[in-house]
Parts: sequence; C-alpha cells; structure tokens
Amino acid sequence: MTDSDLIKLRGLVDLHVHLRDPGQTHKENFFTGTRAALAGGFTTVIDMPNNARPITTKVALDQKIKSAERQIVADTGFYFGSLGDNLEEFVKVSDQVFGLKLYLNVTTGGYLLDKSYLEKIYRAWPMNKPILVHAEADVVGLVMQVVEATGHPTHVCHISSRAELEPVLLAKKSGLPVTGGVTPHHLFLTDTDSQRLGVFGGVKPSLKSASEQAFLWEHLDDIDVVESDHAPHTSQEKEDGSAPYGMPGLETTLPMLLGAVRDGRLELPDIERLCGAGPRKILGLPEEDDTYILVEQADFTISGSKLMTKAKWTPFEGMTAGGRVRKVVIRGTTAFENGEVVAKPGSGRLLRPVT
Ligand SMILES: [Zn+2]
Repeated sequence: MTDSDLIKLRGLVDLHVHLRDPGQTHKENFFTGTRAALAGGFTTVIDMPNNARPITTKVALDQKIKSAERQIVADTGFYFGSLGDNLEEFVKVSDQVFGLKLYLNVTTGGYLLDKSYLEKIYRAWPMNKPILVHAEADVVGLVMQVVEATGHPTHVCHISSRAELEPVLLAKKSGLPVTGGVTPHHLFLTDTDSQRLGVFGGVKPSLKSASEQAFLWEHLDDIDVVESDHAPHTSQEKEDGSAPYGMPGLETTLPMLLGAVRDGRLELPDIERLCGAGPRKILGLPEEDDTYILVEQADFTISGSKLMTKAKWTPFEGMTAGGRVRKVVIRGTTAFENGEVVAKPGSGRLLRPVT
C-alpha cells in the first residue's frame, strides 16, 4: 500500500484525556499516553487535572508540565481543577491552561450541590476560558442555570443520556455559550455490553440503554465534540475492584468512528468536525502547519494486547473497526509510521492558550 491509497485528515484533537502523570504512572505516563494518542491519530491532547494529587495549585501544575516536557510525543495542553478552595490560584495559572474542569457528580447520598458555591467558582474563573463540567443527569440543568447567570462558556463532557443532552440542546437554542461532548463508549456500547464486560464496563457516566444511545446519535449534529475520556487502569486494578471507573480510548476512537463511516452512520467530514474543528474552537487552538494523518479505511478486529496504552485492554475488544492510522506527521516531521512511534520523547509541543 502506498500513501496515495490512504485518506488524509488534519491531525485530530482530543480535549479530554487522563494521562495519570504524575502520581499514577503505573497506569499511564506522558510518554505512553501520547504514544497512544499518535497511534489513534490525535496530534493534540488536553490532559485533565484529577491526578492522584489534584492539579489545583500553580505548584502542582508546574510540576506536571515539567514531567510532560521530557516525555511527550504529541502536542499536549492542560486543564486546572478546583474544589472551590483555590480561587486565588486561578489568576496565577490562567496563561498556562485551556480551561477549568469541575467534577459535579457529587450528589449521591442526597448531598445537594449548592448553586451559589458553583457560581462563586464560575465568577472567579477568567471569562475567556471555558469551564468543563462532569455533570450527570439533573446536575446538567443546575449548571445551565449558572451559565445563564454568568454567561461563562461551558463544555458539558461525556453526555450519555437524554436527560443530560436535553438541557444542553435547550441552552444552545436560547443562545447560551454551551458546548457538548460525547464519548465513543457511549456511542458504541450500551448497558447490554456493560453486563458482558463486567468490571471492564465500569465507567462514569455509566453505559446506557440502546434508546438513550439512539438519542445521542439522533442529535449528533448538535454535539460539538467526540472526546475519548481516555481513562486507563490496569486490568488487575479493574479485576480487584480498586479502580472501578474508566476505560482507555485514545486508540479506538477513530477506528470505531471509521466503522460508523463504513456503516453509513457518519461521514468523514463529521469526524473532522467532532475531533478537529469542534474541539479547536472550544479551546481557541489554531491549526498546526503540515500536521496531518493518513488513514487506511479497512476493517480490522480491535485487540487490547496490540494497544500502546499501558492498560493493554479495551472495552471494544473483538469489535470490527472501520480503519486505522498508518502515518502521523507533525509540523512536517513523521511521528508515527507502520505501527511504530518514531517521534522522540519530548518532541511534542507543550501547548499554551493563545490568550
Ligand atoms: Zn474524564
């Protein structure tokens, strides 16, 4: 096969990954995680702040960036985190991160999330950078109220159900600065798979019914992003119950989406929008020159043992994907070819927001 048989796409962007470094590098590190990104066609990833020691101070963020600098083979940016007790840190890090990630799914056990508390965090974060929320079920409605009150750009991560998507669609319709993302696991797996997968199907938000999934597909035109939510754990941790939620996704996202192209459910421009233009717009991230991937559109069977992620398992094991990445070029230099990462550790660029 020559390069001319392959399809050329711009380098993809995944705005939602957990590379586990520092703190849990037995699960993944910046080297293995960005290798997995390249193998999956992502030339840019943005890393979440919920490390073992959460990235809620400038000191912790600086240490993380330092660790990334020597290891990354894909371009890598970062988010900041908050539990509401670090508002004075926001101004110190705002030129280093692409947004603020908030975990709001804390309502189990009857605890009611306080809207005024959320609004306080919202008002402290710079207006020119998005706030990304993990908000499940009715918590999405609460977030939309705070967006309405503050006008702050907000991205709702991994929308998994009608109850989560409907308030986002309503907010969009009324002109609020809201975007939404879905994951490949919610697009391609259901609660039936969850039973089959056992602990390996454990993820937050959980896998939903086929009818909830159909609702996501029906409204895909109004969804801005496909995000992998790459959240690796070792098989052993999954089996012994010490790591209940999360699954790797960087290397299976594009192959599964290409399967949907094969099946007539998507077209290539949809992939370019959902994994390219969509996330770039949210992050204010310009295109890199001469940065592209070459993709072979051909069926293959997904196997966790062949993945670059340290996790070495996938919830899509045995499924028939519709294509895979053959070559990745970043700023004119080949970074991945013939199944091998050729980029040297540290050759990826540390990304900073433009404003
Ligand atoms: Zn996540």
